[in-house]
Amino acid sequence: MEELRRRLVEDLSDTIEGDLRIDRAALSMYATDASLYEVEPIAVCLPRNSRDVEILAAWSADQRVPLIARGAGTGLAGGCIGRGIVMDFSRYMNAIVSVASDTVRVQPGVRRDQLNAVLRTTGRYFAPDPSNSAITTIGGMLGVDAAGSHAVRVGSTRDHVQSLECVLSGGQKLELGLERIERSFLIGQPTASVVDHVPMGSAGFRFLPPVRNETLRLSSLTPATRKADLLERLNAILQEHADSVAQFQPPLLRNSAGYMLRGILQGNQLDLPRLLVGSEGTLAVFTEATLYTLPLPKHRAVALLMFGTLEQAIRAMQLLLPLDPSACDLLDRRLLSLGRGSDPRFHSMILPEAEGALIIEFPGNSEREVRQRLADSRRLLDSHAIEYRITRESETPDDGDEIWLLPSRVVSLLAGLKGASRPIPFVEDIAVPPERLTEFMQLAQRTFQQHEVTATLYAHAASGQLHLRPILPIPRPGQGSRLEAIARDLYRHVFAVGGSISGEHGDGFSRTAFLRTQYGALYRAFQQVKDVFDPERLMNPDKIISNDPQLTTRHLRASQLIDDTTTPQAPVTVPASQLNWSAQESLDAAIRCNGCGSCRIPAPPLRMCPFVLTDSAEELSPRAKANSVRRALTQGSSSDLLAEESLLPVLDSCFNCRQCELDCPSNVDIPHLIIEARAQRVAANGLSRTARLLSRVHTYARVGSRFTILTNRLLNNPVFRRMLERTVGISAQRRLPRYARTQFLNSARVRSEDNTGIPGSPRPTVVYFVDYFANHHDPELAEAFCRILEHNGYRVYIPRDQTVSGMSMISVGDMVAAREVAEQNIRELAEPAREGYQIVCTEPSAALCLSQEYPLVVKHEDVDIIAQQTLDAGTFLLNLLRQGKLKKDFSHQSLVVGYHTPCHVKALGSAQPMIELLKLIPGLTLQQIEKGCTGMAGTWGLAAENFDRSVQIGSSLISEMRTIRINAGTTDCSSCRMQMEQSATLPTIHPLKILALAYGIMPRIAERLKHAPSGLVMS
Ligand SMILES: Cc1cc2nc3c(=O)[nH]c(=O)nc-3n(C[C@H](O)[C@H](O)[C@H](O)COP(=O)(O)OP(=O)(O)OC[C@H]3O[C@@H](n4cnc5c(N)ncnc54)[C@H](O)[C@@H]3O)c2cc1C
Ligand code: SF4
Ligand code: SF4
Repeated sequence: MEELRRRLVEDLSDTIEGDLRIDRAALSMYATDASLYEVEPIAVCLPRNSRDVEILAAWSADQRVPLIARGAGTGLAGGCIGRGIVMDFSRYMNAIVSVASDTVRVQPGVRRDQLNAVLRTTGRYFAPDPSNSAITTIGGMLGVDAAGSHAVRVGSTRDHVQSLECVLSGGQKLELGLERIERSFLIGQPTASVVDHVPMGSAGFRFLPPVRNETLRLSSLTPATRKADLLERLNAILQEHADSVAQFQPPLLRNSAGYMLRGILQGNQLDLPRLLVGSEGTLAVFTEATLYTLPLPKHRAVALLMFGTLEQAIRAMQLLLPLDPSACDLLDRRLLSLGRGSDPRFHSMILPEAEGALIIEFPGNSEREVRQRLADSRRLLDSHAIEYRITRESETPDDGDEIWLLPSRVVSLLAGLKGASRPIPFVEDIAVPPERLTEFMQLAQRTFQQHEVTATLYAHAASGQLHLRPILPIPRPGQGSRLEAIARDLYRHVFAVGGSISGEHGDGFSRTAFLRTQYGALYRAFQQVKDVFDPERLMNPDKIISNDPQLTTRHLRASQLIDDTTTPQAPVTVPASQLNWSAQESLDAAIRCNGCGSCRIPAPPLRMCPFVLTDSAEELSPRAKANSVRRALTQGSSSDLLAEESLLPVLDSCFNCRQCELDCPSNVDIPHLIIEARAQRVAANGLSRTARLLSRVHTYARVGSRFTILTNRLLNNPVFRRMLERTVGISAQRRLPRYARTQFLNSARVRSEDNTGIPGSPRPTVVYFVDYFANHHDPELAEAFCRILEHNGYRVYIPRDQTVSGMSMISVGDMVAAREVAEQNIRELAEPAREGYQIVCTEPSAALCLSQEYPLVVKHEDVDIIAQQTLDAGTFLLNLLRQGKLKKDFSHQSLVVGYHTPCHVKALGSAQPMIELLKLIPGLTLQQIEKGCTGMAGTWGLAAENFDRSVQIGSSLISEMRTIRINAGTTDCSSCRMQMEQSATLPTIHPLKILALAYGIMPRIAERLKHAPSGLVMS
């Protein structure tokens, strides 16, 4: 294998413009998608243009190496993985080439929502609507014939394609649309030497040899020859199997199982896009597509209907179908109760006793028309004595969106269910005739009972598309027989009611083995079609066409630790975990990632993941991180993989902002997986110089604080800053904070004898954890907080020997140093914590560190009690407000401030407390600056090597700060504050200072609001 990889690189790396990768990181990242499967590719290519694909396809044919097309890798059947060269089109080939009046030309890697954002400006859209349209690529949609809730009205992807630019095995590039057939020949006839043709009589058919000389290498043929050859042969196949097509491929509203042969032959024309769409990259690779666009719907009415039984819901759907809804989706009880508990908006929409619900949508040309259609549907249901309740009806387009949010939200939430069992996708794509839905559901429920499993159901009911997911433990390799048995039994009923095993997700590894049973004699035609396009079976092998009866379970993802699987001859052990969790626990965290790809959506102001916003490379995604750690723990030696150079970009593209964990539907703990992986690298190889210096800024800050006047001058001196960049690695372009003359922890307040936590004070006591920034750069903030607490009747205890929280050391994986500072802080905080005092932090990342990181970093009997007692200042004050204990004697402030919510405040789960607090100040106008992550991430954004990317991530916020009409920015995180001031002409200050000003306890803060940042230093 390694020899083949080397040859591939030797032969192709100079000829193709895209990236060719055979490193272990790439092979790991592309071994999986959103399915249950895992196959390590031979190589990964990120093509830049169709010429690259032609070269690869020619090489693949000559060398007999498979070629596999990939979009976003969100397929649920394993369609884009395999032992071959995986081509990721999402990276570079993602352009919208041109927009015409009713068509659009695109490259395959463009995302569906990205395309529609552009089309929207022309009043049109590309209609097929898979629920993950924010991330799915057009190439992937074409690959599986994707569809969505509105398929009953707009059809599937197949119905919206004018022509496809395809690269065939052998490397020929063809534009294929509705093609005229010039000649015909009898399939199976000997080739090349036969030149005579025989007229076929009145039908006008002639028997001719194929134009392709089968003795020649595929790659030596011209595109014209390939095209003529495939038109002729396809024509013959379709003629030969016309009866089987009619018998075995009946018209179903949804069917993406096997090849679509129905409706391809149209007189003397072949509708090739219709055949190629849904062929899962097994016939050709698409390098461009011309798609039809539709005018945006003018008006719609959406309603949510609740039913006492699932049968009543299905019956209602069947009654409503003749009214021509544009969508009618069905949700079962489990999804409804998940939705009810997840969001207050859904709580009021979902009746606790409902067993099923329908979302129904009617389109129309006017508001009146759509209302009328809803009224008609109510009348119809009433006249049939259907018992239902409409719990929500859309009044506005936004209302409609909110109703539609329900299915996408609850389907995502399914992935996050706690426990060992999950809803497993392997029979998740059944399509049946809508009129036989009730009958099928009864049979399906019986099958699940026989196998003693429960399943969830979400259905695009109007088109008979069912997403059933049995709840099972994640299957391990070699343990798939239960899966196969359930699928086999369920599919018998699918065939009995005239359905299809796949409606919109394709066959992939999940369903290919069942296609012979579904299609009987027609499967022979599929094989012939495959031979026409791909005689060597190199295009995405084992998808649709395969002789492997165990394919459904052959490639199940590895999910057990390597120790379990190694033999005594080749012992491999997992290196000791660096965090306080076992290797099994970290693996459990990693396998929660199901590959759904939601973390690849570059859609600001979404925060997950800031790196993905800057670049669509797979390695930047949280998914790649989970996959890398899982592979390290399950395949070969984990320390080997983690030590790989190629893994560095995966590990380095995370700054522990924690947003992925919040937004990932499965709540995968990516940040700790990354910290664990980094810590293992650091334990083996040590820290990089920059990481060492930047994670310990507090040590040389002591020197800076001692010679404040000189240091602050030097910080603003470009020559010194360039020197600092060369020696310490701090970017010479970064505006830095000035050093305070006296560190807060050396101030009179802290040194005072009154600063004590001795129990018995008549006033309630709060412990203040100061952290680095307030101590060295902003003691005024620390003072402001103390005064606010005192103003509210508290005694403030500031342990003198506390030190930095250590978050920056934890983030870089320096566990030894992190433990040292953590243990020092624990010594200071344990006793007051045991006393029951709350430990309050003005720096959100310090609160996060004490409450969520220390328990994973330090083994100490008091670490949990400290974690429980710690909270951020905003939450502490908000709690007082809610308990009616916060003083509200704020004076009027004529101020307009722009507030940014730090990622770590979100990670703490605090409900933006500072916003509620600032709103108490009379006269103050608050503008929220929701521009996502600032890109600073503690000391990460200080590093010269990260500066450009940091500014890129924070660019929307930075430019907002340049243009927004406010008096000052405000945020509770000191590093976010640095980015907000990076090129701004306005100061940014901590909200606590504004509160202190408004309380009248620190009037000098009014002056701070006038200080603008300038040069290379902050305000
Ligand atoms: C949470 C979630 C929700 C989903 N909801 C839906 C839904 O509502 N409707 C639906 O239809 N599907 C849905 N899917 C399944 C899947 O995401 C979609 O089918 C999607 O269209 C696949 O797109 P992708 O870009 O991820 O393609 P990939 O998974 O990368 O590839 C899918 C197939 O297309 C082929 N392919 C990719 N690019 C090309 C190309 N350039 N040329 C030829 N073949 C190519 C691949 O080889 C593979 O066989 C969902 C998946 C998830 C995880
Ligand atoms: S990390 Fe979460 S969002 Fe990303 S692919 Fe995995 S499960 Fe999906
Ligand atoms: S913690 Fe932040 S930077 Fe790291 S992977 Fe998650 S979202 Fe991305």
